[in-house]
Amino acid sequence: MKRKFLEKATFVLILSLLFVGCVKKESTNVETTILENFESGSIGLVNKISNVEWEIHLADDNDNASLPDRWRNWWYIKLENASTQDPIMLTLKNRGWPYYYLPVYSYNQVDWIRFTEEEVLQNANKELIINKKFDRKDVWIARFYPYTYTNLKNYITTIENSPYITIQTPGVSQQGKPIYVFKITDSSIPVTNKKRVFIHARTHPAETSPSFLLEGFINFLLSGNSKATQILSEIEFHIFPMQNVDGVIAGNYRSTPLSENLEVLWDYNTVNPIDLNSTVPVEVALVHNYAKSLMTNGGPPVSIALNLHASNSEPTIRPFFFPHFGPESLGYSKTEASLWKKHVGFISLLTNRFGSDKIEPIPQQGGRGFTNHKFPETWWWTNFQNNVMAITMEMTYGKWGYTSKWVDINDMKDLGISLALSIQDYSNRTFDRLPQFIGPRNRDLNLLRYPLLYPPLAEYELKN
Ligand SMILES: [Zn+2]
Repeated sequence: MKRKFLEKATFVLILSLLFVGCVKKESTNVETTILENFESGSIGLVNKISNVEWEIHLADDNDNASLPDRWRNWWYIKLENASTQDPIMLTLKNRGWPYYYLPVYSYNQVDWIRFTEEEVLQNANKELIINKKFDRKDVWIARFYPYTYTNLKNYITTIENSPYITIQTPGVSQQGKPIYVFKITDSSIPVTNKKRVFIHARTHPAETSPSFLLEGFINFLLSGNSKATQILSEIEFHIFPMQNVDGVIAGNYRSTPLSENLEVLWDYNTVNPIDLNSTVPVEVALVHNYAKSLMTNGGPPVSIALNLHASNSEPTIRPFFFPHFGPESLGYSKTEASLWKKHVGFISLLTNRFGSDKIEPIPQQGGRGFTNHKFPETWWWTNFQNNVMAITMEMTYGKWGYTSKWVDINDMKDLGISLALSIQDYSNRTFDRLPQFIGPRNRDLNLLRYPLLYPPLAEYELKN
């Protein structure tokens, strides 16, 4: 017995020594590496200057060099075996946008922290330079708070048992991943007298802000709060939380793995415009079919259709919308001006809920340009004119209206709560007259660093 124990102990000792030997061998040879081999991970060419200094180039979606520079913005890396003794310096090259911003980092891919303005500089070539001493050897760094398909599936497990939600998967993506749609309402009350609201998000994979907004929006609606319960007795919400699932998994910024920009592919049939041509990608067909069925299945028609995005901008630019057309006084028809009033009315109600200094001013007019494209709003307008208040909402990544703070996940969730409240505000009124808009009316473009790139004036460039 004793001898057997000794034999075993010796064996364990030898194993331990071997193991320590291995670890020691590795630790004398520590090599910091940059990885992107995980969900939503992305980086292009990496130049190692030293073990603490790197130049990293942004990747084109699908490494497709024929895509426009402005499609190049998302990056998400893991630094493995980084020095915790010395600061790490990362220079971000090959950027598609000139704006200064603060990326985020995490030691566990769950809790994300913004870099500080002291830790991120911008040089004359508009490259961002991160300089920071990290506390751990493994650190994930991203352009903005990541939100993956796995994050969505995990979130679903926290809401799926609510009596107010029905979760369906009307189809799968090009790569076979289920695409989810949530129906949220108080189903004990018949739909006949309810309003219907349609929302879709993550057409552009790296625009993660709307996912956090939607979590705040949905958590509030399902909270049992008396106001939320009242909203669910009046409104039936239909939400596609992630349209471009494959692009999210691939770590793309704007497109599917086939480099399709789904935003411009609502390719409606000119003879029968309620239908899209059969060549559209399945991700567009699924969202469109669902929207079409809501408009044709005999229930109340959709009154609000929100298309959620996020936009690169200067740090001071707040979330904004792309309202369409303009007032009759500027030459728009009665029907066009009616849609404009609804757009301005809705933006004003959200501004009144969220804060007059936290939503971007409304332009004097939105123009007709969207009618020449194949955006979701083009399909809604072509088929239902001013009966559906269809609009794109663009969140931004910077400071919104705050003087020094950069927005975090809770700010985005709070905007979701305000959005839910303003949808109810909107549903309970008409817009023959413009509601009072208490936010600033105009943005002084002279105060901007890049006035020609002011995103609320660049709808077609941003969406194409
Ligand atoms: Zn977008």
